[in-house]
Amino acid sequence: MSDSTVTKKDTTEKTDLKSLTREELADFCSELDLQSFRGDQIYKWLYEKGVSGFEEMTNLSKDLRSRLEEIAEVNRIELVRRQESSDGTIKFLFEIKGGYHMESVLIPDFDDDGYAKRLTVCVSSQVGCVFGCSFCATGKMGHFRNLSHGEIVDQVQYLDEVAREKFDKGVTNIVYMGMGEPLHNYDAVMESTAIISDPETLNISPKRITVSTVGLTKQIKQLADERQPFNLAVSLHAADDEKRDEIMPINKSLNLENLKDALTHYFERLHKPVTFEYLLFNQFNDTPEDAEKLSTIAHWIPSKVNIIMYNNVEGVELKRAQESRLDQFLSILTDNDVTATVRRSRGEDIDAGCGQLAVKEGEKGKSIAD
Ligand code: SF4
Repeated sequence: MSDSTVTKKDTTEKTDLKSLTREELADFCSELDLQSFRGDQIYKWLYEKGVSGFEEMTNLSKDLRSRLEEIAEVNRIELVRRQESSDGTIKFLFEIKGGYHMESVLIPDFDDDGYAKRLTVCVSSQVGCVFGCSFCATGKMGHFRNLSHGEIVDQVQYLDEVAREKFDKGVTNIVYMGMGEPLHNYDAVMESTAIISDPETLNISPKRITVSTVGLTKQIKQLADERQPFNLAVSLHAADDEKRDEIMPINKSLNLENLKDALTHYFERLHKPVTFEYLLFNQFNDTPEDAEKLSTIAHWIPSKVNIIMYNNVEGVELKRAQESRLDQFLSILTDNDVTATVRRSRGEDIDAGCGQLAVKEGEKGKSIAD
């Protein structure tokens, strides 16, 4: 795709208010000689009320609204398609500035009475991804651009509205496991978690926010040094360097020894356990030997292991493991005192597995500006 194509719709020079941090918004207002509380007022309109234009900011004077209209804009992600799975999972395809497409998923967990006890939103942080993991549909797209923090918060706001309408309850949990590697878009992801957990906006506790990473060690250490309060999940998916090199190219430059070092630093600073995500692939990483190696890794620092039954992706050789191999694998982890849970992939009929949101070959063209 040529540069002229990717920037086709980026012709405006107006300031995108949702790409500014709260402090930058305050600076923007002070440059316009506005009183200091105006920045806070606009912040609340953007993130507490989720407005999509200045006309809705009714506590700003008409004059100020028209002035802002001339020099700034409020972008909102736009729904392109919505697909609902038979298990209640809903996948949303959004268009963002520049004509790019990205996806988010709303995953309800129901109690025995059919009431949604937990509503998890899986958000994207980038359009595409540079890391090219062999099992991942997003990795096959290449990388187009990072999302702004506003575009990440928009996903949560949009799905929160849907959740309230459909399930009578707002979103309860956020996982950064959609398209992209969250720690490769560090600043926007950090800003978005701060906004989402802000009591003045969506007020979702950091304890209910999980950011995943393929193992970017510098950024893991940075999270620790900044004392970021949310949960960290590490996409491990193989328990030795040889197999991990095969399916996750990042491992060739940041191997398991590097990861161990970063996670040790993380735990020493934050005293917080991490979750190891482990997609179980048939006859690849599901042997007793793999389970033993995974047990060793799980004891590097306090952690739990989340075994994920893979949503098969078209064109990917690795396939979901058999149930019998899962049982054997789990019992070895348990015998080794590893806390392990199994996550069944959700929304398989709509290709909605988080971290492997399917961008089918035939749909690629729709995922970029045309
Ligand atoms: S699994 Fe994550 S890091 Fe790997 S290619 Fe997919 S989106 Fe990127």
